[in-house]
Amino acid sequence: MNIHSLRGFRDLLPPESTLFACIEASAREVFALYGYQEIRIPTIESKELFVKSTGDTTDIVEKEMYAFTDQGGREVAVRPEGTPGVVRAYIEQNLSQSGRNGKYFYIGNMFRAERPQAGRYREFTQIGAEYIGNASPFADAETITLLVRLLEKAGLPGLSVEINSLGCGECRKSYREILLNHLKANIATLCEPCKNRIDRNPLRALDCKIDGPALAEKAPKLTLCAPCAEHFDRTRTLLKSSGVEFTVNLNMVRGLDYYTRTVFEVKSSALGSQDAVAGGGRYDDLVKSMGGPQAPAIGWAMGVDRVAMLLKDKAPATAPAVFVIAASKEAQDAAFKILGELRAQNISADFSNLELSLKSQLRSADRSGAVIAVLLGEEEVRNSVCAIKFLKEKREQQIVPAAGLITELKQILGNAPTP
Ligand code: AMP
Repeated sequence: MNIHSLRGFRDLLPPESTLFACIEASAREVFALYGYQEIRIPTIESKELFVKSTGDTTDIVEKEMYAFTDQGGREVAVRPEGTPGVVRAYIEQNLSQSGRNGKYFYIGNMFRAERPQAGRYREFTQIGAEYIGNASPFADAETITLLVRLLEKAGLPGLSVEINSLGCGECRKSYREILLNHLKANIATLCEPCKNRIDRNPLRALDCKIDGPALAEKAPKLTLCAPCAEHFDRTRTLLKSSGVEFTVNLNMVRGLDYYTRTVFEVKSSALGSQDAVAGGGRYDDLVKSMGGPQAPAIGWAMGVDRVAMLLKDKAPATAPAVFVIAASKEAQDAAFKILGELRAQNISADFSNLELSLKSQLRSADRSGAVIAVLLGEEEVRNSVCAIKFLKEKREQQIVPAAGLITELKQILGNAPTP
C-alpha cells in the first residue's frame, strides 16, 4: 500500500492513546468539581462563523483554516478552535435561558494547516472551558485556577502562568492609533503579511509567528482605562489568594481578535520551542457581536498533544488481568466459556488463539502483561478443575476447582499490583 497519512496528521497508538484517555478522564473529574458540563459541538461549521469570531486577520483564519465549498455549494470550515462553535450553540440553543450557570467544557480535535514540527500538528486535541455570562473578576480567577489545577492533577512538570490585560474596546481605540503609528515608523522590520494587515488590525503584528516577539518587546504598551485596570487588579489579587503563582507579561496579546481584558497562557519549560500548553482569555463582546445576548465570557483551551508529550514517561501500561489458554483441542470450548464468565465478573481477560500450541499461547500470555494465566487441558476439563499460573515473579502453578475459579482469582488479583 502506498497511501500514507497526511503531513501533520498522525495515528495515536497505545500507550499514547491511553495517556490521552487518562488526561481526558482526569480533566472531566476537575470540571465536575468546578460545576462545568460537557458540550459537544460539530467539527464542521459555516466558514463565516470563524471569520466573524476568530477574526479574518488572524493566522488561524487567514492562513491555516481548512475551508472548502461543500456539495451543496456552502462555504464551510473544519473547526480550527472550539470557542466559536460553543458561542454559536449558546446563542442558537438559547442557553442563556437554561437557568444553569453557563459553564461548558469540550474535548475535541481541531484542525489548522500550520507548518508541522514537534508539538505542532495539523490535527490536534484540545480540552477547552468556556464560562459564559459572568463579567466579574471572580470568574477570571476561577477559570485560571481551574486550568492550573487541571494541569497539576494531570501531573505536569515545570509550569508557569503568564497573564496580561488587553483592555476593552475603549482602551484599545486610542492604543490602536499609537501602535499603528509605531509600526508604520518601523515598517521595514515587519514581515510581508504583517505589512499588509497592520491597517486592518495592528495588534496582530505583535503575535506574528515570524517577528511578533521582537516587535512586542519594543512596541508601546497599552494603558488600561480605570475599570479595566481595576478588573485586572482584582483578578491578580484573587488569583494570589487562590494560591496560583503567575507573572504579568505585558507583551502577550494572544492570536485571536475577540479577546478583551484578561488573557493568559500556561507554558512548560520542559517543552521545546512550542512551549505553550494552554491559553485563553476573556471575550466580553463576542456573544453579542455574533447576534446573541449581552453575555460577557472567559475561556481557555489546552493542547492535549503537548500535555501528553510532557507525560510520555508516565503512560500507563494496559494489560488484561487474566490470560486464558487451552492446552488441548478438547479444552478449547471450555476455555472460551471461561473468558466470558471472567468478563461478566468484571475481571479483564484475554486470549491469543486457542487453536495454537500451548507454547505459543504461553508466549502470548507473557507478552500480554497479564498477572495470571488460566490453563485448561483435557484432563482439567474432565476433572472440573483449572490450572492457574502466576506470570509475574513466582511463576508457580496451582490447581483450583473450576467452580471456585472466580473467587480464587478475585482473591489473588485483589492482592496483585494492577498491571
Ligand atoms: P490556541 O487555541 O492557539 O490558544 O491554543 C491553545 C493550546 O492548544 C496551545 O497552548 C497548544 O497547547 C495547543 N495547540 C495549538 N495549536 C496546536 C497545534 N497545531 N498542534 C498541537 N497543539 C496545538
